[in-house]
Amino acid sequence: MSDVSGSELRALMARVPSVEKVMASAEFAALIVEYGRTQVLGAVREALDRWRAGAQSGDASVSALDVAQLKSSVEAALRQRNESRLRSVFNLTGTVLHTNLGRALLPDEAVQAVMKALTQPANLEFDLGTGKRGDRDDLIDDLICELTGAEAATVVNNNAAAVLLTLSALASKKEVIVSRGELVEIGGAFRIPDIMNRAGAKLREVGTTNRTHLKDYEEAIGPQTALLMKVHASNYAISGFTKEVALDEIAPLAHTRGLAVAVDLGSGTLVDLSQWGLPRETTVRETVEAGADIVTFSGDKLLGGPQAGLIVGRRDLIAKIKKHPLKRALRVGKLTLAALEPVLQLYRAPERLAERLTTLRLLTRAAGDIRLAAERVQPALQHAFGERYAVTAEPMFSQIGSGALPVDVLPSYGLVVKTVDGKRGGRQLLALEKRLREMARPVIGRIADDALRLDLRCLEAADEAELIEQLKGARA
Ligand SMILES: *Cc1c(COP(=O)(O)O)cnc(C)c1O
Repeated sequence: MSDVSGSELRALMARVPSVEKVMASAEFAALIVEYGRTQVLGAVREALDRWRAGAQSGDASVSALDVAQLKSSVEAALRQRNESRLRSVFNLTGTVLHTNLGRALLPDEAVQAVMKALTQPANLEFDLGTGKRGDRDDLIDDLICELTGAEAATVVNNNAAAVLLTLSALASKKEVIVSRGELVEIGGAFRIPDIMNRAGAKLREVGTTNRTHLKDYEEAIGPQTALLMKVHASNYAISGFTKEVALDEIAPLAHTRGLAVAVDLGSGTLVDLSQWGLPRETTVRETVEAGADIVTFSGDKLLGGPQAGLIVGRRDLIAKIKKHPLKRALRVGKLTLAALEPVLQLYRAPERLAERLTTLRLLTRAAGDIRLAAERVQPALQHAFGERYAVTAEPMFSQIGSGALPVDVLPSYGLVVKTVDGKRGGRQLLALEKRLREMARPVIGRIADDALRLDLRCLEAADEAELIEQLKGARA
């Protein structure tokens, strides 16, 4: 192990500059301006400790240390430490609303509004008419009602919060009737029975997993019933011998018994997506019209806005929800409201929505257009991976994601990487996938059917140019 003799080690150690001398040196002056004294001092001490430990253990790469050398190592450490942990990536997974990659991307109108809200005071809770304290929901509830046909609205942190708050405010210590076919878990530990528990409500399950009838609901109604609830089975589909009771049957039943119906719609679609050739999903307005007294949905799924949970419905129930103490804990910040308003305004011009709303633009992007992108990126990816791999542009299917319409897929195009020798190459593909993930701007793809697959649906022009540049700079 150690081939450094005692005297050599002592000589090496004696030449290590003191911390004071390093900090006072001209080389370190600029670093101190940029990162501050405390951080630089800490990094210098760490670098010197590392060097001493290396010298003592006889690490052959350890040689006499000079200030310039120390500076480059300290600078690299400081740069790495101060790099943002939240990084931009390329979403080439083929899932447009990818929860782990931040779901909906916002249109420029929203970005500008957030920038303003970040840097200028705003009337968040200030009534400009009276000069008195205002309510942050007032900034946006009219617009939400206009787009959904609901009487009243409020906004909280996300849809899980919306459901928790609704149940807490309307069903605490009482029963909520839900079909067994709708007791779903939506990724990331959102389970209807758990939320129900947390809200202090008692779940009354009716029907079976595949079939629930109106009389199941009818027979379950009792003096303890507070709500009938329907939950969108977002991330799975039940098929075969099934029966679900439609909202327009449940609502009249609830109403004749003096009860309310709450619907957790999950993805909040505000417009009929089939007009763009996308699969049809019940809109919030249709849900309100079918008799829902409360509807909850996400801001960052199909709606295409920031993370938020929207609650719309009957005025008296929304008032009750807004008065509940949890509302204060779950409320949204000004950045969310700033982003949400311009996104909702885009819906006032539905004929331009597919071009302006980023999420819809990505979902409706034509496979032919994506194919051209794949053909443009192909040479750069082939260059980056070298000739042991075959990179081809091929048709594939994208998904909407975030539990919206799980069984539907969108015809897309992308790059498929396989080993040239035709071997399955599991380990090599994993290594390629890792290499892409470790790039300056990480590229996130997926491995399926013995190939690395990069779906280019979500790669719009500016990103495409950036990706090509990055790949050109990568060595094969
Ligand atoms: C996505 C989803 C949720 C959770 O919404 P978040 O906005 O992620 O909190 C709840 N219910 C349903 C039916 C969903 O699809």
